[in-house]
Amino acid sequence: MTSTLDVRQISVEYLSQGQPSPILHDVSCTLPQAQRTAVIGESGRGKSTFAFAITGLLHRSPSIRVTGESLFQRQNLLALDVDSLRGLRRKEIRYVFQEPSESFNPLLRLGTSIRASLCDGWDTERICSLLERVGLAEPLRVLRSYPHELSIGMLQRAAIAVAVAPEPSLLIADEPTSALDEPLKWQILDLLEDLRSSMQCTSLVVSHDPMLLNESVDQVIVFFAGRIVEINPNRPLRAEALHPYTRMLAGVDARSRLHPPAPVGCAFHPRCPLAKDRCRTELPDLEQTSNGTWVRCFYWKSTTSGS
Ligand code: SF4
Repeated sequence: MTSTLDVRQISVEYLSQGQPSPILHDVSCTLPQAQRTAVIGESGRGKSTFAFAITGLLHRSPSIRVTGESLFQRQNLLALDVDSLRGLRRKEIRYVFQEPSESFNPLLRLGTSIRASLCDGWDTERICSLLERVGLAEPLRVLRSYPHELSIGMLQRAAIAVAVAPEPSLLIADEPTSALDEPLKWQILDLLEDLRSSMQCTSLVVSHDPMLLNESVDQVIVFFAGRIVEINPNRPLRAEALHPYTRMLAGVDARSRLHPPAPVGCAFHPRCPLAKDRCRTELPDLEQTSNGTWVRCFYWKSTTSGS
């Protein structure tokens, strides 16, 4: 299958007073073209760092070290110059961020911010039809409003409109629903998927919310302690989850205990109901199973045998 993004051995370290603090370890995966990938894991497990690192948003910071490659249209995004990256972000790679209120300048009417974000050729009529496309029924009122005059859901719809306006090849949504209440979460996820499907673009949705495991995503990538522990292209994931952590997130196995990740061995072992002595000292590799899933667990077969 053709991929939009080919991620190869990405590692990220934050540097504090010269001391490295590893955040992502040797991450490799692909984002299949015109498909929807969800990245799942609890907060602080490296998901957002992954989304930003693979699209070249992090590697120029002096306090962050990023190694590896991320290939988009045969170009390594981590080796591109600033202008080339900026050009890609204007058209090909677009983002929806967690806090919709931060997507717009609070001192400007939305119309001013939106026009500044779009290229030439976007007159008021075209912007209004874009806003209607994302479910904003009174687009002229939206354009005349300041951010504080709109609900958080309306602001997120407007932010999505700006993101999809150039019909990108890759849409990254980082925790797009975490500021929203329950019914609105589903509406925004459905909207993102409708837009992705109609544009036939590739999307990556990052979330700490396991509700995405029940969504009809094409591929789920699960992070724990800065490592991918499962890449699963099979549906429904609740029935197909192999790693004990994914099964805990999916609500299949509730036996996991709350405990920080272990620094040695399998990071999940203090919480894992299947842990054995080997898990405390050895780190499992990602292993591919016969149905196309990748899983990082010595004993994943026992999750499917019910033992
Ligand atoms: S390797 Fe061991 S501790 Fe880690 S998930 Fe598998 S069974 Fe659990």
